[in-house]
Amino acid sequence: MDSMKEQEQISPAEETVIPPTDYIPVLMYHHFAIRDMGEGNGVVTTQAELRAQIASLKEAGYEFISLETLDRLLQQMEKKRNQKTDNEGKSLGLGQKYVCITIDDGYLSNYELAFPLFKEYRVPASIFVVTDSITQQTGLKKFTWKQGQKMVDSGMVKLYNHTANHIPIDMEIEEAFLLAVAQGEQALQAHLRQEGCKALAYPNGRFTLYAQKELEKMGFDLLFTVEHGVITKQTSRYEIPRIAVESGWDGQALLEHIERAARKSFVPGKR
Ligand SMILES: [Zn+2]
Repeated sequence: MDSMKEQEQISPAEETVIPPTDYIPVLMYHHFAIRDMGEGNGVVTTQAELRAQIASLKEAGYEFISLETLDRLLQQMEKKRNQKTDNEGKSLGLGQKYVCITIDDGYLSNYELAFPLFKEYRVPASIFVVTDSITQQTGLKKFTWKQGQKMVDSGMVKLYNHTANHIPIDMEIEEAFLLAVAQGEQALQAHLRQEGCKALAYPNGRFTLYAQKELEKMGFDLLFTVEHGVITKQTSRYEIPRIAVESGWDGQALLEHIERAARKSFVPGKR
């Protein structure tokens, strides 16, 4: 308890609040449950927590955006950066607070517990699926392609690539990893009617520069890591950091964690 308190103590320098219009947080969820699953389930969010988080973000003035919108914003930013007309600092200087919801792995709980809230609150969300485990229904219960299509048809959810097999790049040769990405893309096209950009979340967030270049050649618009932080003006579309939402966070806690992630991205060494 005492060590927790010490961690929470904030020194004056760390009180700096970065305006939320200077950055874009991308939230990362995994699994949802009706009630708290207890210890050891750090990536499970209860439905009540998700509701509180969405409500708090809305109340704080955040607009939830799809990956298509994010892609557009980042491409504009990239153009300015390449033209060297606007390459100073990290602030995005947006006229609006934006936030993105992403969910990894494609669990059935996404469909059963999170999707109803996305519809209710009119919030866009993006799910990165492991395509083989959807097709073969292996491992922890996943939603089916049919359920995935239902979510897509609602206009609130889109499904993206998390490779065919979820083998992290450092666990196999890069060519095998790239093949699993290509297979993931083929499966998405074969099983879904969906328009949109091409995005991938790296399994376990692991990536190499070689893979990044190859994926860029394959036409990917957005590549997501699990590096902790927010999108700033210096963020590459091919190396997008995310904030892993942990069990037990209410709406206020989520807002505080976003602020902390922003401080870390703007003032290195600070959290
Ligand atoms: Zn994953």
